[in-house]
Amino acid sequence: MSNPQATINRILHGTLIDGPGVRIALFFQGCNFKCRYCHNPETQNFCRACGACALTCPTAAVAEHGGVDSYRAERCVHCYQCLKTCPHHSSPHYRTLTIDDLIKEVEASRDFIDGITFSGGECTLQSDFLVSAMKALRKKFGDHFSFYIDSNGLIEKPHLSLLMDHASGFLLDIKAMSRKRHRFLTGKDNKLVLHNAVEMAKRRLLYEVRSVLVCNTTAIPSEIIASATFINHLAKLNAPRTLRWKLIPFRPEGVRDPRAQEEMLISKEVYDNCCRLAKRSYCEQNIITV
Ligand code: SF4
Ligand code: SF4
Repeated sequence: MSNPQATINRILHGTLIDGPGVRIALFFQGCNFKCRYCHNPETQNFCRACGACALTCPTAAVAEHGGVDSYRAERCVHCYQCLKTCPHHSSPHYRTLTIDDLIKEVEASRDFIDGITFSGGECTLQSDFLVSAMKALRKKFGDHFSFYIDSNGLIEKPHLSLLMDHASGFLLDIKAMSRKRHRFLTGKDNKLVLHNAVEMAKRRLLYEVRSVLVCNTTAIPSEIIASATFINHLAKLNAPRTLRWKLIPFRPEGVRDPRAQEEMLISKEVYDNCCRLAKRSYCEQNIITV
């Protein structure tokens, strides 16, 4: 019998911020956006086995030619020099994960988790694996766990339909409401993202929409009001399920471009003003601030 595989950057056991309750979060490798403020740029691409990181690793934890099977975890001191060196926004650390591996991971944490969240990178690029994983986990554990998908929303229709048939909910990033600003931030149009948000809401599958507030781009009144108007519309479709709106200030940690680190930062005052405006424009108790 076939055993589908995924490429995984890392697995986190016991996260409290990736969906409801205590969860296992799987961070998939590969993304279809190239966000200027990406905090995990090493998840964007697959390793090209160029070997550059092997030259800078202080403990020879990456074999000479680099590549997926070249990482020796027992030698790694987690200095992350390899991530800084990689010219391709990748990592030598990622690995393949089978459904059987995933079941073992879930079994190890089954007594203290409420569910599993598939995140990234952009996990929906590996949607065949996600669907197989949700089916297999449901077969093994019944309805014991919920399955959430953390996505940027750029999902082609056939994949989205299948994912919606199996997922318990979605955490959706809406990077910007203006098409121009969305392109500026991510390199991609937002038309399909907004369309998919409506599809998810119609199926009452939206758990949370997230906005990252970036100086002079999304941390401005017109973006907050446009987001609030759209999220109000989504919330009506999503009812009676509650829709949370999380407002996150841009954070420079992990961002590669030093100019972006400076130019995108917002002050506490700007963040507070955006939150106040959001609370006036959307159900206050469903707004999450940080
Ligand atoms: S984090 Fe990367 S560079 Fe540092 S020891 Fe591990 S493999 Fe080597
Ligand atoms: S992780 Fe990056 S630097 Fe290392 S081998 Fe792969 S592509 Fe090259």
